[in-house]
Amino acid sequence: MLLLASVILAVAQKPLDIYFMDMEGGHATLYVSPSGQSMLIDTGSPGDRDVDRIMAVLEAAGVKQIDYMVLSHYHGDHVGGLEALAKRIPIKHYVDHGPSVEPREQVPGFQKMYADLYEKAPRTIVKPGDKIPVAGLDITVVTSANQVLKKPMAGAGKPNPACAAFQPRDESRVDPDNPQSVGLVIANGKFRTINLADFTWNSEKELMCPNNPIGTVDLYLTSHHGIDQSGSPALVHALHPRVAVMHNGTRKGGAASTYATLHSSPGLEDIWQLHWAWNGGIEQNPAGIYIANLDDKETIANVIQNPPTQLQFGTGGRGPGAPGAPPAATTATAAAGAGRGPGRAGHTGPAFWIKVSAMADGSFTITNTRNGFSKTYGTK
Ligand SMILES: [Zn+2]
Repeated sequence: MLLLASVILAVAQKPLDIYFMDMEGGHATLYVSPSGQSMLIDTGSPGDRDVDRIMAVLEAAGVKQIDYMVLSHYHGDHVGGLEALAKRIPIKHYVDHGPSVEPREQVPGFQKMYADLYEKAPRTIVKPGDKIPVAGLDITVVTSANQVLKKPMAGAGKPNPACAAFQPRDESRVDPDNPQSVGLVIANGKFRTINLADFTWNSEKELMCPNNPIGTVDLYLTSHHGIDQSGSPALVHALHPRVAVMHNGTRKGGAASTYATLHSSPGLEDIWQLHWAWNGGIEQNPAGIYIANLDDKETIANVIQNPPTQLQFGTGGRGPGAPGAPPAATTATAAAGAGRGPGRAGHTGPAFWIKVSAMADGSFTITNTRNGFSKTYGTK
């Protein structure tokens, strides 16, 4: 009995470790439970670059097998690395939202390859309210297959005042597998974080309005890489995060409206980024100590001298992407020609990651592995 009590105490004093990896605007995040079990959400894009980066993090984390491999949805920047990864590390269990809703595969042959993999390891299709049973964590599915959590989590379910100003978007050009994303709330005791992958703007209203079934979180992974197809105030302000981590690429994410929503989010203390965001320019990017990977110096200098044209304020905090405005992607592409120096669409080779160690008392420490800068967010 004494032994059991001390084992429980030892686990309670260990952190949940989270590793946000630079997939150049794709997604892969590793969660290592105080119990030692691991969950990886997504695998970045096809090719060696992203899988090599994932393997480097798994090694640094001492992870020898992936206990739960969650595929949020089937886009190339999320599942592209799976085939190569499965050859390099044992995967014990697969989790996804069910069949793709897009007839054209972004990774050709993916579904056949994936079916071969889950013939050898169990696969679970999840729905909102399901749990992913990683020992030592409480992981709740809040979105899957464009269905949302209806029964509030403990202590949640209050009306969401941010719904009143919700402006729907034209999502006719949004790839339909995005709102299918498996979205999770992950808790280690009092610490709570959310990862909604590429869940989209209009579906956020279905999840968060009129009542907020989730409550608040400590750390918000900016939905959809910080592009402006996701991350409405109805979602972000209601979640009331202390910290946002953006998994942007140099030229993907960091939308003006994303920053505006974050900067006006009550209680937000810091924004950390996997990349310096070309879209954010000098005004919006946080101080370099919070950024894991930088653009090349010539490009940064050029952007400072020729700021991106889509950086706009004063229209309710929204730049392009507001109803009637041209889609952000078009504007960003057009602006890219003007302010862009000898930059690259992304960089190859190793990359730095952002590590979060979160304790059951709700405190957490974030570390930028590029410069060793570390900051602790105490209990509230
Ligand atoms: Zn994506």
